[in-house]
Amino acid sequence: MTLQKRPGACVMNMNGTKDGNGIARELSLWQRAQEGIPGGVSSPVRAFKSVGGEPVFISSGKGSRVFDVTGKEYIDYVCSWGPLILGHAHPRVIERARERMEKGSTFGAPTEIEVEMAEAVKDAFPSMERVRFVSSGTEAAMSAVRLARAFTKRTRILKFEGCYHGHADSFLSGSGSGMVSFGIPESPGVPDSFARETVTLPFNDLEKVHDFFEREGSGIAAVIVEPICGNMGCVLPADGFLAGLREISSRYHTLLIFDEVITGFRVAYGGAQELLKMEPDLTLLGKIVGGGFPAAAYGGRKEIMEILAPAGAVYQAGTLSGNPVAMAAGLETIRILKEARSTIYGELDAKGKRMEEGVTSAIRESETAATINRVGSLFTLFFASEPVNDLTLAKKSDTKKFGKFFHFLLDRGVYFPPSQFEAAFISASHSAEDIEETVEAISDGLAALKE
Ligand code: PLP
Repeated sequence: MTLQKRPGACVMNMNGTKDGNGIARELSLWQRAQEGIPGGVSSPVRAFKSVGGEPVFISSGKGSRVFDVTGKEYIDYVCSWGPLILGHAHPRVIERARERMEKGSTFGAPTEIEVEMAEAVKDAFPSMERVRFVSSGTEAAMSAVRLARAFTKRTRILKFEGCYHGHADSFLSGSGSGMVSFGIPESPGVPDSFARETVTLPFNDLEKVHDFFEREGSGIAAVIVEPICGNMGCVLPADGFLAGLREISSRYHTLLIFDEVITGFRVAYGGAQELLKMEPDLTLLGKIVGGGFPAAAYGGRKEIMEILAPAGAVYQAGTLSGNPVAMAAGLETIRILKEARSTIYGELDAKGKRMEEGVTSAIRESETAATINRVGSLFTLFFASEPVNDLTLAKKSDTKKFGKFFHFLLDRGVYFPPSQFEAAFISASHSAEDIEETVEAISDGLAALKE
């Protein structure tokens, strides 16, 4: 649609701009987004920066599918970056949320549903003897670190390269040079003094953890880790890595925090800690726990959690914390997972396995330098010639190739995460046909890249 300029009048429409001839033209949704929102998006990865091109605007989703504003349909492997383990708009989840909303969406007072939710979380994660609800994974991580600092009366934290724990200042620091003693800010706006309190070591390098603890262990409040990493792409813990972290944390009276924002209710009902038989001191949950609404949680041993206000002195609060609608959607999601616990994780794993087999043979046939990492329904195809066990290896991936591959899939109606360094998610609503269609598109994509 072209908006004609009325003579003598300055035509500026909310959705328009003027070209060189004074003709006002309609702006695309992407142009409008950039006029209103920094970089056009509410969270950076959505902008397609690392794959090029313009992002797709999604208008709706149902089951394994999303639909963009032009009506084009995609098999979705982003699944809102993890929450939608049951797929889009699951009827039971939507019904519970609607029912709850009709009775009022928020009260800023205790509600029965958050008590039920706490019981459900404790039941799934026995290490979480007490649980506090917040609105995002970032908030959960930030609050757990404050709690760990207060509990241990220490200030420094240890995290790992490639793990992501949200965007609070404590986590936006990377490894410094040399002996990796001091963190350096990874974003303008993070003070050096904050970054220095965070040490970052390579994921899966237990020897470096031992060296570091020997020098400075008595000052470390917490070790925080994604037990199965999803944020440099899917990367698995090496044998003994997590057990080593558990042992050394206990020895130095440092708290071990498992960030299960992705893995919680995903890799098993009780998360990575159930799958890998580990017991952290504190656990972070997000994504699935909110059933597609903004909710997250942190929790752990009673004596640690009970120093939180108002039981204790460590302050943390939130207007919408434990929001009833989010709790209703999350609780219904968890209930569905629990009811189907004996089959649903096996089915998710079988779909993931078929994807892995299909992708592996496509890699072989096309002689592409690529590898796939997978745990259950979480996977990443890296354009890397070596196995990927840490961030340094992940970064050896050919990101240009990934960008071309991504767009090939997008054209074919397969919506993959728009970055080499993100995990893809399969949901319970992905059918065997969806997986086969995707494997075929991936095979064709890899063959096309070769040409
Ligand atoms: N922790 C992990 C492991 C995550 O993957 C994320 C987000 O992707 C976060 C924390 C932060 O969660 P949120 O985006 O809800 O703040």
